[in-house]
Amino acid sequence: MEKVLLITGGSRGIGAATALAAATQGYRICINYLSDHAAAERICSQVRALGAQAIAVQADVSNEDEIIRLYTRIDAELGRITHLVNNAATIAHASRVEDMSEFRLLKIMMSNVVGPILCSKHALLRMSPRHGGQGGSIVNVGSAASRLGSANEYVDYASSKGAIDTFTLGLAKEVAPEGVRVNAVRPGYIFTDFHVQSGDPFRVSKLEGELPMRRGGTPEEVAEAILWLLSDKASYATGTFIDVAGGR
Ligand code: NAP
Repeated sequence: MEKVLLITGGSRGIGAATALAAATQGYRICINYLSDHAAAERICSQVRALGAQAIAVQADVSNEDEIIRLYTRIDAELGRITHLVNNAATIAHASRVEDMSEFRLLKIMMSNVVGPILCSKHALLRMSPRHGGQGGSIVNVGSAASRLGSANEYVDYASSKGAIDTFTLGLAKEVAPEGVRVNAVRPGYIFTDFHVQSGDPFRVSKLEGELPMRRGGTPEEVAEAILWLLSDKASYATGTFIDVAGGR
């Protein structure tokens, strides 16, 4: 079976590391991004240099029309999707819940929860034998925050990742009989530009001393877990989680 992989938010950080690691594992790869065209094209070129067919497609995964446009490009240029990494997500500045606006909450829930569910929906319309597919594999990128709650900082973000945990468990059971596996990786503090959006770009280096392993993680360390769960090496794993959080 040809392997066609969509990585949402693949233009930097964990998504980009996943694309680069997948490039040598026989996937045709779609790198989705929101706004940074140059970064997405740069990763796409690096993936192609490693020998994989790749395209970069701009689409906001919090909008179903844009997801439909994204999958139409994949269908036409790479073929029917077989593997999905729901990686794109957002966060806002540290805040107590009583100061969170409706706009902020809707943006986080649309990007981090509705987006992955809709991307999975359109993947299943291609992966499931109910729709002519041959099965597949979905990996959701959650967060250790779903276990920890992120009090006084990002309870909204942590709650969105709690929803991803539950979505992973439920969808895994729903589509297991159809040959589609659904799993999640839950990173801890990882060195990426994600923390710029939280208003604290140096968050990982500031806090890593408090971690059991006394260091933050790299995007490549998270990508290893994503690619294992995505692959046939994890053929009996579904509805499960790998925490890549340095013992946190
Ligand atoms: P990142 O460096 O900020 O990258 C985010 C990526 O998502 C970018 O490619 C961005 O595109 C894209 N994106 C954001 N919103 C999008 C949308 N609505 N539609 C499409 N693409 C969108 O993030 P990261 O640190 O690699 O995080 C990746 C995943 O790991 C996220 O799910 C995050 O919650 C999770 N995570 C990260 C950490 C950490 O410490 N870094 C810890 C736990 C969990 P543009 O650049 O074009 O905007």
